Amino acid sequence: MTKQYYTTIGLEIHAELNTKTKMFCNSKNDPDETRPNVNICPVCMAHPGTLPVINKQAVEHVVRVGLALGGNIADFTEFDRKNYFYPDIPKGYQISQYKYPIVSGGELALPAQAGAVKITRVHLEEDTANSKHDRGDYSLVDFNRAGVPLMELVTEPVIHTAKEAGAFGRELQLLLRYLGVSEANMEKGEMRVELNISISPDEKVFGTKVEVKNINSFKAVERAAEYEIKRMSELLDAGRGSEIVQETRGWDETKQSTFSQRTKENSEDYRYFPDPDLPKLKLKEVFGENFEKVKALPELPSAKRARYKNDFGIKDEDIESYMTDMELSNFFESVISDLGSREAIILASNFITSDLLGILKINSTAKIPDYQSFSKLIKMFAGNELSSRATKDILLMLATEGGDPMQIATEKDLLQKNDEGALKAIVEKIIAENAEVVAIYKAGKENALMSLVGRVMKESNGSANPQLVQKMLKEQIR
Ligand code: ADP
Ligand code: MG
Repeated sequence: MTKQYYTTIGLEIHAELNTKTKMFCNSKNDPDETRPNVNICPVCMAHPGTLPVINKQAVEHVVRVGLALGGNIADFTEFDRKNYFYPDIPKGYQISQYKYPIVSGGELALPAQAGAVKITRVHLEEDTANSKHDRGDYSLVDFNRAGVPLMELVTEPVIHTAKEAGAFGRELQLLLRYLGVSEANMEKGEMRVELNISISPDEKVFGTKVEVKNINSFKAVERAAEYEIKRMSELLDAGRGSEIVQETRGWDETKQSTFSQRTKENSEDYRYFPDPDLPKLKLKEVFGENFEKVKALPELPSAKRARYKNDFGIKDEDIESYMTDMELSNFFESVISDLGSREAIILASNFITSDLLGILKINSTAKIPDYQSFSKLIKMFAGNELSSRATKDILLMLATEGGDPMQIATEKDLLQKNDEGALKAIVEKIIAENAEVVAIYKAGKENALMSLVGRVMKESNGSANPQLVQKMLKEQIR
Protein backbone atom coordinates (compact mmCIF):
# COMPACT_ATOMS: atom_id res chain seq x y z
CA MET A 1 0.00 0.00 0.00
CA THR A 2 1.43 3.29 -1.11
CA LYS A 3 1.80 5.98 1.52
CA GLN A 4 0.58 9.49 0.85
CA TYR A 5 3.11 11.62 -0.97
CA TYR A 6 2.85 15.23 -2.07
CA THR A 7 3.59 15.89 -5.70
CA THR A 8 5.34 19.04 -6.89
CA ILE A 9 5.62 19.94 -10.56
CA GLY A 10 7.23 22.87 -12.36
CA LEU A 11 7.22 23.18 -16.13
CA GLU A 12 9.76 24.60 -18.54
CA ILE A 13 8.14 25.27 -21.88
CA HIS A 14 9.81 26.26 -25.12
CA ALA A 15 7.88 27.70 -28.05
CA GLU A 16 9.21 28.60 -31.48
CA LEU A 17 8.07 32.11 -32.33
CA ASN A 18 6.28 33.23 -35.47
CA THR A 19 8.72 35.49 -37.28
CA LYS A 20 9.80 35.93 -40.88
CA THR A 21 13.47 35.51 -40.09
CA LYS A 22 15.63 33.91 -37.44
CA MET A 23 16.55 35.40 -34.06
CA PHE A 24 19.88 36.96 -35.03
CA CYS A 25 20.10 36.84 -38.84
CA ASN A 26 18.12 37.13 -42.05
CA SER A 27 17.73 33.42 -42.71
CA LYS A 28 14.13 32.37 -43.12
CA ASN A 29 12.26 31.00 -40.12
CA ASP A 30 10.20 28.31 -41.78
CA PRO A 31 9.14 25.36 -39.61
CA ASP A 32 7.54 23.69 -42.65
CA GLU A 33 10.74 23.53 -44.71
CA THR A 34 11.49 19.87 -45.36
CA ARG A 35 14.75 20.15 -47.33
CA PRO A 36 17.67 20.15 -44.87
CA ASN A 37 20.10 23.05 -44.55
CA VAL A 38 18.48 25.52 -46.93
CA ASN A 39 17.54 28.27 -44.47
CA ILE A 40 21.03 28.97 -43.27
CA CYS A 41 23.63 31.73 -43.60
CA PRO A 42 27.08 32.56 -42.26
CA VAL A 43 25.58 34.06 -39.09
CA CYS A 44 23.52 31.07 -37.96
CA MET A 45 26.30 28.76 -39.13
CA ALA A 46 28.71 30.69 -36.88
CA HIS A 47 31.27 31.59 -39.49
CA PRO A 48 34.13 33.67 -38.08
CA GLY A 49 33.68 37.40 -38.33
CA THR A 50 29.88 37.39 -38.44
CA LEU A 51 27.79 39.33 -35.96
CA PRO A 52 24.26 38.76 -34.66
CA VAL A 53 21.45 41.36 -34.95
CA ILE A 54 18.44 41.11 -32.62
CA ASN A 55 15.06 40.32 -34.21
CA LYS A 56 12.71 42.99 -32.86
CA GLN A 57 9.57 41.04 -33.74
CA ALA A 58 10.70 38.20 -31.47
CA VAL A 59 11.28 40.61 -28.58
CA GLU A 60 7.83 42.07 -29.21
CA HIS A 61 6.23 38.60 -29.07
CA VAL A 62 7.77 37.84 -25.68
CA VAL A 63 6.71 41.25 -24.34
CA ARG A 64 3.15 40.49 -25.38
CA VAL A 65 3.22 37.07 -23.74
CA GLY A 66 4.49 38.74 -20.58
CA LEU A 67 1.69 41.30 -20.61
CA ALA A 68 -0.94 38.61 -21.21
CA LEU A 69 0.38 36.77 -18.15
CA GLY A 70 0.36 39.94 -16.06
CA GLY A 71 4.11 39.62 -15.60
CA ASN A 72 6.63 42.35 -15.07
CA ILE A 73 8.18 43.58 -18.32
CA ALA A 74 11.84 44.42 -17.81
CA ASP A 75 12.98 48.00 -18.37
CA PHE A 76 16.39 46.58 -19.08
CA THR A 77 17.17 43.25 -20.68
CA GLU A 78 20.22 41.55 -22.16
CA PHE A 79 21.35 38.36 -23.85
CA ASP A 80 23.86 35.90 -22.45
CA ARG A 81 25.94 33.11 -23.85
CA LYS A 82 25.16 29.66 -22.54
CA ASN A 83 28.24 27.64 -23.31
CA TYR A 84 28.19 23.97 -24.14
CA PHE A 85 29.59 21.76 -26.83
CA TYR A 86 27.32 19.77 -29.07
CA PRO A 87 27.02 19.41 -32.86
CA ASP A 88 23.58 21.07 -32.88
CA ILE A 89 25.02 24.33 -31.59
CA PRO A 90 27.43 25.71 -34.20
CA LYS A 91 28.83 28.59 -32.14
CA GLY A 92 29.67 26.40 -29.17
CA TYR A 93 27.20 28.48 -27.19
CA GLN A 94 23.52 29.27 -27.35
CA ILE A 95 22.43 32.88 -27.06
CA SER A 96 19.88 32.97 -24.25
CA GLN A 97 18.95 35.20 -21.33
CA TYR A 98 20.13 34.62 -17.81
CA LYS A 99 20.06 37.43 -15.27
CA TYR A 100 17.76 39.84 -17.07
CA PRO A 101 14.87 38.00 -18.75
CA ILE A 102 12.30 40.06 -20.66
CA VAL A 103 9.50 38.91 -18.34
CA SER A 104 9.50 38.10 -14.61
CA GLY A 105 6.51 36.86 -12.64
CA GLY A 106 2.90 36.70 -13.78
CA GLU A 107 0.44 33.85 -13.76
CA LEU A 108 -1.81 31.84 -16.01
CA ALA A 109 -5.32 30.99 -14.83
CA LEU A 110 -6.47 27.51 -15.77
CA PRO A 111 -10.01 27.12 -17.13
CA ALA A 112 -12.92 25.76 -15.09
CA GLN A 113 -11.79 27.43 -11.87
CA ALA A 114 -8.77 25.14 -11.59
CA GLY A 115 -6.69 27.95 -10.05
CA ALA A 116 -3.74 29.87 -11.46
CA VAL A 117 -0.14 28.81 -11.99
CA LYS A 118 2.56 31.30 -11.06
CA ILE A 119 5.16 32.04 -13.68
CA THR A 120 8.82 32.52 -12.76
CA ARG A 121 10.04 34.08 -15.99
CA VAL A 122 9.78 34.18 -19.76
CA HIS A 123 12.91 34.77 -21.77
CA LEU A 124 14.10 34.72 -25.34
CA GLU A 125 16.76 32.51 -26.85
CA GLU A 126 17.65 30.76 -30.10
CA ASP A 127 16.74 27.23 -31.06
CA THR A 128 19.35 24.58 -31.76
CA ALA A 129 19.77 22.60 -34.96
CA ASN A 130 18.00 19.28 -35.43
CA SER A 131 20.18 16.17 -35.06
CA LYS A 132 19.20 12.82 -36.45
CA HIS A 133 20.80 9.88 -34.73
CA ASP A 134 18.83 7.11 -36.42
CA ARG A 135 21.40 6.30 -39.12
CA GLY A 136 23.52 3.68 -37.43
CA ASP A 137 27.16 4.70 -37.38
CA TYR A 138 26.78 8.36 -38.29
CA SER A 139 24.51 11.29 -37.40
CA LEU A 140 23.05 14.08 -39.51
CA VAL A 141 22.45 17.70 -38.52
CA ASP A 142 19.87 19.98 -40.13
CA PHE A 143 20.59 23.64 -39.37
CA ASN A 144 17.28 25.08 -40.64
CA ARG A 145 16.12 25.32 -37.04
CA ALA A 146 19.43 26.66 -35.68
CA GLY A 147 18.86 30.24 -34.57
CA VAL A 148 15.06 30.22 -34.79
CA PRO A 149 13.59 32.50 -32.09
CA LEU A 150 12.60 30.44 -29.11
CA MET A 151 10.67 31.59 -26.08
CA GLU A 152 11.24 29.81 -22.80
CA LEU A 153 8.67 30.02 -20.02
CA VAL A 154 9.41 28.65 -16.56
CA THR A 155 6.71 28.06 -13.95
CA GLU A 156 7.11 28.07 -10.20
CA PRO A 157 6.93 24.63 -8.57
CA VAL A 158 3.23 25.09 -7.79
CA ILE A 159 1.52 22.39 -9.84
CA HIS A 160 0.41 19.36 -7.86
CA THR A 161 -1.27 16.92 -10.23
CA ALA A 162 -0.59 15.36 -13.61
CA LYS A 163 -3.91 16.72 -14.92
CA GLU A 164 -3.04 20.30 -13.94
CA ALA A 165 0.30 19.98 -15.72
CA GLY A 166 -1.49 18.95 -18.91
CA ALA A 167 -4.09 21.69 -18.46
CA PHE A 168 -1.37 24.31 -18.08
CA GLY A 169 0.25 23.21 -21.32
CA ARG A 170 -3.04 23.33 -23.21
CA GLU A 171 -3.96 26.74 -21.83
CA LEU A 172 -0.55 28.19 -22.64
CA GLN A 173 -0.80 26.82 -26.18
CA LEU A 174 -4.16 28.54 -26.55
CA LEU A 175 -2.76 31.82 -25.26
CA LEU A 176 0.22 31.71 -27.63
CA ARG A 177 -2.13 31.07 -30.54
CA TYR A 178 -4.50 33.86 -29.55
CA LEU A 179 -1.57 36.24 -29.31
CA GLY A 180 -0.38 35.02 -32.70
CA VAL A 181 3.14 34.57 -31.35
CA SER A 182 3.48 30.85 -32.06
CA GLU A 183 1.64 27.97 -33.73
CA ALA A 184 2.76 26.04 -30.66
CA ASN A 185 2.11 22.66 -32.20
CA MET A 186 3.48 19.98 -29.85
CA GLU A 187 3.59 17.25 -32.49
CA LYS A 188 5.72 19.46 -34.75
CA GLY A 189 8.07 20.40 -31.91
CA GLU A 190 6.99 24.05 -32.10
CA MET A 191 6.13 23.74 -28.43
CA ARG A 192 8.14 21.53 -26.08
CA VAL A 193 7.27 20.79 -22.49
CA GLU A 194 9.84 19.72 -19.94
CA LEU A 195 8.39 18.28 -16.80
CA ASN A 196 10.16 18.82 -13.45
CA ILE A 197 8.64 16.60 -10.83
CA SER A 198 9.28 15.48 -7.28
CA ILE A 199 7.34 13.79 -4.52
CA SER A 200 7.74 14.05 -0.77
CA PRO A 201 6.12 12.62 2.35
CA ASP A 202 6.28 16.10 3.87
CA GLU A 203 4.20 18.84 2.26
CA LYS A 204 6.68 21.49 3.40
CA VAL A 205 9.85 19.88 2.08
CA PHE A 206 10.52 19.33 -1.61
CA GLY A 207 11.74 15.93 -2.69
CA THR A 208 14.51 15.39 -5.24
CA LYS A 209 13.27 16.40 -8.66
CA VAL A 210 13.78 14.74 -11.99
CA GLU A 211 13.33 16.47 -15.32
CA VAL A 212 11.52 14.61 -18.10
CA LYS A 213 12.17 15.54 -21.75
CA ASN A 214 11.07 14.39 -25.24
CA ILE A 215 7.39 14.75 -24.43
CA ASN A 216 5.40 15.25 -27.62
CA SER A 217 1.79 15.75 -26.56
CA PHE A 218 -0.21 17.10 -23.61
CA LYS A 219 -1.52 13.61 -22.96
CA ALA A 220 2.11 12.47 -22.70
CA VAL A 221 2.79 15.28 -20.17
CA GLU A 222 0.09 13.74 -17.97
CA ARG A 223 1.24 10.17 -18.57
CA ALA A 224 4.88 11.02 -17.84
CA ALA A 225 3.88 12.74 -14.59
CA GLU A 226 1.73 9.79 -13.55
CA TYR A 227 4.55 7.40 -14.41
CA GLU A 228 7.08 9.34 -12.33
CA ILE A 229 4.71 9.66 -9.36
CA LYS A 230 4.28 5.90 -9.36
CA ARG A 231 7.98 5.14 -9.91
CA MET A 232 9.14 7.44 -7.12
CA SER A 233 6.37 6.38 -4.73
CA GLU A 234 7.38 2.77 -5.14
CA LEU A 235 11.02 3.59 -4.45
CA LEU A 236 10.10 5.56 -1.31
CA ASP A 237 7.73 2.81 -0.14
CA ALA A 238 10.52 0.27 -0.50
CA GLY A 239 12.91 2.41 1.55
CA ARG A 240 14.97 3.04 -1.59
CA GLY A 241 14.51 6.81 -1.64
CA SER A 242 18.24 7.31 -2.17
CA GLU A 243 17.82 5.85 -5.65
CA ILE A 244 15.79 8.92 -6.66
CA VAL A 245 18.51 11.15 -8.05
CA GLN A 246 18.41 14.53 -9.70
CA GLU A 247 18.61 13.63 -13.36
CA THR A 248 17.21 14.14 -16.82
CA ARG A 249 14.91 11.37 -17.98
CA GLY A 250 13.43 10.77 -21.40
CA TRP A 251 9.83 9.89 -22.20
CA ASP A 252 9.41 6.76 -24.27
CA GLU A 253 6.10 7.11 -26.09
CA THR A 254 6.04 3.48 -27.23
CA LYS A 255 6.69 2.04 -23.81
CA GLN A 256 4.75 4.83 -22.05
CA SER A 257 7.56 5.08 -19.53
CA THR A 258 10.55 7.23 -18.67
CA PHE A 259 14.20 6.22 -18.70
CA SER A 260 17.35 7.77 -17.25
CA GLN A 261 19.32 9.88 -19.73
CA ARG A 262 21.94 11.77 -17.76
CA THR A 263 22.51 13.34 -14.38
CA LYS A 264 21.72 17.00 -14.58
CA GLU A 265 24.29 19.69 -15.13
CA ASN A 266 24.20 22.81 -12.96
CA SER A 267 23.88 26.28 -14.37
CA GLU A 268 27.53 26.88 -13.39
CA ASP A 269 28.51 24.33 -16.00
CA TYR A 270 27.25 26.64 -18.71
CA ARG A 271 29.52 29.55 -17.78
CA TYR A 272 26.88 32.12 -18.63
CA PHE A 273 28.10 35.61 -19.41
CA PRO A 274 26.57 38.61 -21.25
CA ASP A 275 27.09 38.37 -25.00
CA PRO A 276 29.54 41.15 -25.93
CA ASP A 277 28.36 41.10 -29.57
CA LEU A 278 24.84 42.25 -28.71
CA PRO A 279 23.55 45.58 -27.42
CA LYS A 280 21.77 45.74 -24.06
CA LEU A 281 18.13 46.65 -24.51
CA LYS A 282 16.08 49.33 -22.84
CA LEU A 283 12.68 48.27 -24.07
CA LYS A 284 11.14 51.75 -23.89
CA GLU A 285 13.84 53.00 -26.22
CA VAL A 286 13.68 49.97 -28.47
CA PHE A 287 9.98 50.41 -29.21
CA GLY A 288 9.71 54.17 -28.70
CA GLU A 289 6.33 55.53 -29.74
CA ASN A 290 5.24 52.10 -30.92
CA PHE A 291 5.36 50.65 -27.42
CA GLU A 292 1.66 51.31 -26.84
CA LYS A 293 0.78 49.47 -30.03
CA VAL A 294 2.97 46.53 -29.03
CA LYS A 295 1.18 46.46 -25.70
CA ALA A 296 -2.34 46.39 -27.16
CA LEU A 297 -3.51 42.79 -26.82
CA PRO A 298 -6.35 40.99 -28.59
CA GLU A 299 -9.14 39.38 -26.58
CA LEU A 300 -7.51 36.59 -24.59
CA PRO A 301 -8.96 33.12 -24.01
CA SER A 302 -10.04 33.86 -20.42
CA ALA A 303 -11.91 36.99 -21.53
CA LYS A 304 -13.60 35.16 -24.36
CA ARG A 305 -14.76 32.39 -22.05
CA ALA A 306 -16.19 34.97 -19.63
CA ARG A 307 -17.98 36.79 -22.45
CA TYR A 308 -19.59 33.62 -23.83
CA LYS A 309 -20.69 32.65 -20.35
CA ASN A 310 -21.95 36.04 -19.20
CA ASP A 311 -23.48 37.29 -22.43
CA PHE A 312 -25.04 34.09 -23.70
CA GLY A 313 -25.01 31.63 -20.79
CA ILE A 314 -23.18 29.03 -22.87
CA LYS A 315 -22.18 25.85 -21.00
CA ASP A 316 -18.48 25.46 -20.08
CA GLU A 317 -18.18 22.35 -22.19
CA ASP A 318 -19.61 24.10 -25.26
CA ILE A 319 -17.39 27.12 -24.67
CA GLU A 320 -14.36 24.83 -24.89
CA SER A 321 -15.48 23.67 -28.34
CA TYR A 322 -15.15 27.27 -29.50
CA MET A 323 -11.89 27.85 -27.62
CA THR A 324 -10.04 24.98 -29.23
CA ASP A 325 -11.36 25.40 -32.77
CA MET A 326 -10.40 28.78 -34.18
CA GLU A 327 -12.37 28.31 -37.39
CA LEU A 328 -15.52 27.45 -35.47
CA SER A 329 -14.95 30.34 -33.11
CA ASN A 330 -14.51 32.82 -35.97
CA PHE A 331 -17.67 31.45 -37.53
CA PHE A 332 -19.58 31.92 -34.27
CA GLU A 333 -18.22 35.47 -33.92
CA SER A 334 -19.59 36.33 -37.39
CA VAL A 335 -22.93 34.75 -36.49
CA ILE A 336 -23.00 36.80 -33.26
CA SER A 337 -22.57 40.08 -35.12
CA ASP A 338 -25.01 39.03 -37.83
CA LEU A 339 -27.80 38.01 -35.46
CA GLY A 340 -27.38 40.67 -32.81
CA SER A 341 -30.17 39.52 -30.50
CA ARG A 342 -29.22 37.50 -27.46
CA GLU A 343 -32.06 34.99 -27.89
CA ALA A 344 -31.16 34.27 -31.49
CA ILE A 345 -27.47 33.89 -30.61
CA ILE A 346 -28.28 31.37 -27.89
CA LEU A 347 -30.38 29.38 -30.36
CA ALA A 348 -27.56 29.58 -32.88
CA SER A 349 -25.03 28.30 -30.36
CA ASN A 350 -27.25 25.36 -29.49
CA PHE A 351 -27.53 24.39 -33.14
CA ILE A 352 -23.75 24.79 -33.53
CA THR A 353 -22.62 22.79 -30.53
CA SER A 354 -25.23 20.04 -30.58
CA ASP A 355 -25.98 19.68 -34.31
CA LEU A 356 -23.31 21.24 -36.48
CA LEU A 357 -20.43 19.70 -34.50
CA GLY A 358 -22.14 16.32 -34.77
CA ILE A 359 -22.54 16.74 -38.51
CA LEU A 360 -18.88 17.74 -38.90
CA LYS A 361 -17.76 14.77 -36.85
CA ILE A 362 -19.58 12.02 -38.73
CA ASN A 363 -19.62 13.54 -42.20
CA SER A 364 -16.16 13.86 -43.70
CA THR A 365 -17.35 16.04 -46.57
CA ALA A 366 -19.21 18.49 -44.30
CA LYS A 367 -17.76 21.95 -43.74
CA ILE A 368 -18.62 24.85 -41.49
CA PRO A 369 -21.32 26.60 -43.56
CA ASP A 370 -21.34 30.15 -44.79
CA TYR A 371 -22.22 32.24 -41.72
CA GLN A 372 -24.84 34.35 -43.51
CA SER A 373 -26.82 31.31 -44.66
CA PHE A 374 -26.57 29.87 -41.19
CA SER A 375 -27.79 33.09 -39.55
CA LYS A 376 -30.69 33.19 -41.99
CA LEU A 377 -31.58 29.62 -41.05
CA ILE A 378 -31.59 30.54 -37.36
CA LYS A 379 -33.79 33.55 -38.03
CA MET A 380 -36.27 31.34 -39.89
CA PHE A 381 -36.36 28.94 -36.97
CA ALA A 382 -36.72 31.75 -34.43
CA GLY A 383 -39.56 33.22 -36.53
CA ASN A 384 -41.50 29.93 -36.47
CA GLU A 385 -40.99 29.40 -40.18
CA LEU A 386 -39.15 26.13 -39.60
CA SER A 387 -39.59 23.32 -37.11
CA SER A 388 -36.55 22.14 -35.20
CA ARG A 389 -36.47 18.96 -37.35
CA ALA A 390 -36.53 20.93 -40.59
CA THR A 391 -33.88 23.32 -39.27
CA LYS A 392 -31.57 20.41 -38.56
CA ASP A 393 -32.17 18.89 -41.98
CA ILE A 394 -31.41 22.17 -43.72
CA LEU A 395 -28.32 22.64 -41.54
CA LEU A 396 -27.02 19.32 -42.81
CA MET A 397 -27.56 20.50 -46.39
CA LEU A 398 -25.84 23.81 -45.70
CA ALA A 399 -22.85 21.97 -44.27
CA THR A 400 -22.59 19.42 -47.06
CA GLU A 401 -23.76 21.26 -50.18
CA GLY A 402 -24.28 24.87 -49.19
CA GLY A 403 -27.15 26.91 -50.55
CA ASP A 404 -29.80 29.32 -49.41
CA PRO A 405 -31.97 28.12 -46.51
CA MET A 406 -35.15 29.81 -47.78
CA GLN A 407 -34.71 28.32 -51.22
CA ILE A 408 -34.04 24.85 -49.80
CA ALA A 409 -37.05 25.11 -47.49
CA THR A 410 -39.32 26.17 -50.34
CA GLU A 411 -38.07 23.54 -52.75
CA LYS A 412 -38.37 20.73 -50.23
CA ASP A 413 -41.65 22.02 -48.85
CA LEU A 414 -40.19 22.36 -45.38
CA LEU A 415 -41.61 25.74 -44.46
CA GLN A 416 -43.58 25.33 -41.30
CA LYS A 417 -47.29 25.17 -41.86
CA ASN A 418 -48.63 27.60 -39.37
CA ASP A 419 -52.16 27.91 -40.69
CA GLU A 420 -54.85 25.39 -40.04
CA GLY A 421 -56.02 25.30 -43.63
CA ALA A 422 -52.73 23.85 -44.82
CA LEU A 423 -52.73 21.17 -42.12
CA LYS A 424 -56.37 20.21 -42.00
CA ALA A 425 -56.15 17.44 -44.57
CA ILE A 426 -53.15 15.81 -42.93
CA VAL A 427 -54.69 15.93 -39.47
CA GLU A 428 -57.90 14.35 -40.73
CA LYS A 429 -55.97 11.67 -42.58
CA ILE A 430 -53.96 10.71 -39.50
CA ILE A 431 -57.08 10.55 -37.33
CA ALA A 432 -58.80 8.33 -39.88
CA GLU A 433 -55.82 5.98 -40.21
CA ASN A 434 -55.21 5.62 -36.50
CA ALA A 435 -58.58 4.85 -35.01
CA GLU A 436 -56.99 2.65 -32.34
CA VAL A 437 -54.66 5.36 -31.05
CA VAL A 438 -57.52 7.84 -31.11
CA ALA A 439 -59.55 5.46 -28.97
CA ILE A 440 -56.74 5.08 -26.48
CA TYR A 441 -56.45 8.86 -26.23
CA LYS A 442 -60.20 9.17 -25.72
CA ALA A 443 -59.93 6.62 -22.92
CA GLY A 444 -57.73 9.11 -21.08
CA LYS A 445 -54.15 8.27 -22.14
CA GLU A 446 -52.56 11.68 -22.80
CA ASN A 447 -49.44 10.11 -24.33
CA ALA A 448 -51.45 8.80 -27.23
CA LEU A 449 -51.97 12.37 -28.39
CA MET A 450 -48.22 12.91 -28.71
CA SER A 451 -47.98 9.81 -30.85
CA LEU A 452 -50.58 11.30 -33.19
CA VAL A 453 -48.71 14.63 -33.25
CA GLY A 454 -45.60 12.70 -34.24
CA ARG A 455 -47.41 11.04 -37.13
CA VAL A 456 -48.73 14.35 -38.42
CA MET A 457 -45.23 15.80 -38.19
CA LYS A 458 -43.84 12.90 -40.15
CA GLU A 459 -46.56 13.08 -42.77
CA SER A 460 -45.78 16.81 -43.21
CA ASN A 461 -42.04 16.14 -43.56
CA GLY A 462 -41.48 18.01 -40.32
CA SER A 463 -43.05 21.15 -41.69
CA ALA A 464 -46.08 21.33 -39.40
CA ASN A 465 -46.05 23.53 -36.35
CA PRO A 466 -46.30 20.97 -33.53
CA GLN A 467 -48.18 23.23 -31.12
CA LEU A 468 -50.77 23.93 -33.77
CA VAL A 469 -51.08 20.25 -34.66
CA GLN A 470 -51.68 19.40 -31.02
CA LYS A 471 -54.42 22.00 -30.75
CA MET A 472 -56.10 20.84 -33.96
CA LEU A 473 -56.01 17.18 -32.94
CA LYS A 474 -57.60 17.99 -29.60
CA GLU A 475 -60.37 19.92 -31.33
CA GLN A 476 -61.02 17.21 -33.90
CA ILE A 477 -61.09 14.31 -31.45
CA ARG A 478 -63.97 14.93 -29.17
P1 ADP B 1 17.36 23.85 -12.31
O1 ADP B 1 18.39 24.75 -11.72
O2 ADP B 1 17.55 22.41 -12.03
O3 ADP B 1 17.07 24.17 -13.74
P2 ADP B 1 15.24 25.50 -11.43
O4 ADP B 1 15.18 25.97 -10.04
O5 ADP B 1 15.72 26.44 -12.49
O6 ADP B 1 16.03 24.17 -11.48
O7 ADP B 1 13.79 25.01 -11.80
C1 ADP B 1 13.51 24.43 -13.01
C2 ADP B 1 12.06 23.99 -12.98
O8 ADP B 1 11.87 23.01 -11.98
C3 ADP B 1 11.09 25.11 -12.62
O9 ADP B 1 9.93 24.97 -13.41
C4 ADP B 1 10.77 24.86 -11.17
O10 ADP B 1 9.46 25.28 -10.84
C5 ADP B 1 10.85 23.35 -11.09
N1 ADP B 1 11.23 22.85 -9.76
C6 ADP B 1 12.17 23.32 -8.94
N2 ADP B 1 12.26 22.55 -7.84
C7 ADP B 1 11.35 21.56 -7.99
C8 ADP B 1 10.97 20.41 -7.20
N3 ADP B 1 11.54 20.12 -6.05
N4 ADP B 1 10.00 19.62 -7.68
C9 ADP B 1 9.44 19.87 -8.85
N5 ADP B 1 9.74 20.91 -9.63
C10 ADP B 1 10.70 21.73 -9.22
MG1 MG C 1 16.79 26.05 -14.74
